[in-house]
Amino acid sequence: MLKVDNLHTHYGPSHILHGIALEAAAGEVVGIFGRNGAGKTTLLKTIAGWVKPSEGGVSVDKEEIGHLPPEKVCRRGIGFVPEDRRIFPGLTVEENISLALLQGAGMSSAEERASLDRIYTRFPRLQERRKQIGTSLSGGEQQMLAMARAIVCRPRLLLIDEPTEGLAPMIVDEIFKLIAELRAAGTTILLVEQNLHAALAASDRFYVIERGRVVESGVSRVEADQERLYAAIAV
Ligand code: ATP
Repeated sequence: MLKVDNLHTHYGPSHILHGIALEAAAGEVVGIFGRNGAGKTTLLKTIAGWVKPSEGGVSVDKEEIGHLPPEKVCRRGIGFVPEDRRIFPGLTVEENISLALLQGAGMSSAEERASLDRIYTRFPRLQERRKQIGTSLSGGEQQMLAMARAIVCRPRLLLIDEPTEGLAPMIVDEIFKLIAELRAAGTTILLVEQNLHAALAASDRFYVIERGRVVESGVSRVEADQERLYAAIAV
């Protein structure tokens, strides 16, 4: 479903991704692990169109998307939950979600309302707080808002960057529960997550990135593969 082929990304003169190749089958949850600065965020940003690759390609369902701007990537059913959440300042919870709906494929207002209602059924706390300014929510609620915003258009591929960073254990459990629901519903997910134990339980396969290259990959529930992962991260 997702195919990343020989991906190179630069920030100015800094060469960050050095020929990343990876795949995710439809409905797979794929963990992306690696130490700080390995290039995980840059990989997700490149797939999401926020950063242009200097070489190589990204295709989703055989359509090349590596050259598209972010709003077009979004319209092709790819949702991105960035590490810093990017809640729009000055906008309410509902306006944040509605703005994401605008980026989707031209919905009628009835479809928009139905999408909002669907989100509020899943996230009752966001409904309670729908008139509040998004950035005034707690960290956990903002993360839920960022997730809600990314899934409101029912993406077929979801890119999630460190969703549990700095959050209390109860919210962390909620986020993994949401990821499990999305997985059960057949959403393909790339998950960058520092909590290896929980991320292995939530994923089917994984890749380890080091200095912009894939150095390990494996099946999340296979113990020998887990050991290689822990060894690769610990070195
Ligand atoms: P972390 O877990 O710390 O978020 P990461 O694996 O996600 O790490 P990236 O954020 O992709 O890593 O960063 C990879 C490298 O690119 C790092 O060396 C970082 O300093 C550098 N980098 C990131 N963003 C920029 C930028 N906008 N301009 C220049 N260099 C950058």
